[in-house]
Amino acid sequence: MKAWVLEKQGKVETKPLIKKEIPVSEVRKNEIRIKIKATGICRTDLHEIEGDLPLHKKPVIPGHQIVGIVDEIGKEVTSFKEGELAGAAWLYSSCGSCKFCVSGRENLCPDTKFTGWDVDGGYTEFIVIDADFAYHLGENHSFAEQVPFMCAGITGYRGYRLAEIKKGEKLGLFGFGPTAAFVLQIAKAKDIECFVATRSEHNQKSAKELKADWVGDYDDKFPVKLDAAIFYPPAGELISYVLSLLEPGGKLILSPIYMSPIEIKDYTGLLWMERNIKSVANITRKDGIEFLKIADELKLKSRVETYNFDDIPETLIKVSKGEIDGTAVVELDSSNLS
Ligand SMILES: [Zn+2]
Ligand SMILES: [Zn+2]
Repeated sequence: MKAWVLEKQGKVETKPLIKKEIPVSEVRKNEIRIKIKATGICRTDLHEIEGDLPLHKKPVIPGHQIVGIVDEIGKEVTSFKEGELAGAAWLYSSCGSCKFCVSGRENLCPDTKFTGWDVDGGYTEFIVIDADFAYHLGENHSFAEQVPFMCAGITGYRGYRLAEIKKGEKLGLFGFGPTAAFVLQIAKAKDIECFVATRSEHNQKSAKELKADWVGDYDDKFPVKLDAAIFYPPAGELISYVLSLLEPGGKLILSPIYMSPIEIKDYTGLLWMERNIKSVANITRKDGIEFLKIADELKLKSRVETYNFDDIPETLIKVSKGEIDGTAVVELDSSNLS
């Protein structure tokens, strides 16, 4: 099978990925093999390729937003059949026995493996994964449309869940990329009022199209107090501002992996009255299963730009320059796998 392989990290402009022909992996008794139909390019891939994240495996095939068709199943697999739709996401495996795994918090397991980082990922034609960590996909979207579900969608849903927001309450979304776009659609379907602050005019426009109740910039006067806020940019200097918008008991959920320093000077005004702050780390399978069901039922809209397999190095450059509208998706079919 053809694969884009990373052997040595480097700036995407230097095109560090090398296209190779490598053997297709055998399927063990508890695994399935997915013939990949579409695969995503995420900013996390960029951090891995350029060296902001250390390599856990060398060489490695990046990519953790994978959708396709089950091509072969292991002897003991009962949860999937050949020919069914299946997806793989960031969480490739967890230990299953630590205190986090046994209490439904496998996202915090110290022995997790991540797709495209600890094991080969999606910039290729096939992936073999444990059937217990693969996802069933709905029929209401194309392969390409389902790709952002596997990362932005599931991560967004986890943040939404941690916000514990209920019907009739007010949710603020700070920053508005593909992740927030999924959260907004789910929240609106649950009759939650949504207020979006983002600098980008283009993203403000998409938030309006998805029926946000208010859309503005960070400098605009915020119209209400919030029961919960989800914060996406890695901009720690804005945290005090967002805390100042929370109701007593309000929750602030932080989505970024990196954040510039956070300084909270006014305890009484910003944290007192049971306001709390929580970060989102990784995903659990429960998040994935619940989100994919909701995405299918609500026919969530995803915004994608599609590319060919051979375009992956150029597409990474576009992702790094912020030139993609939505999620960059690579479609694989026999016509573009030369
Ligand atoms: Zn991702
Ligand atoms: Zn564990």
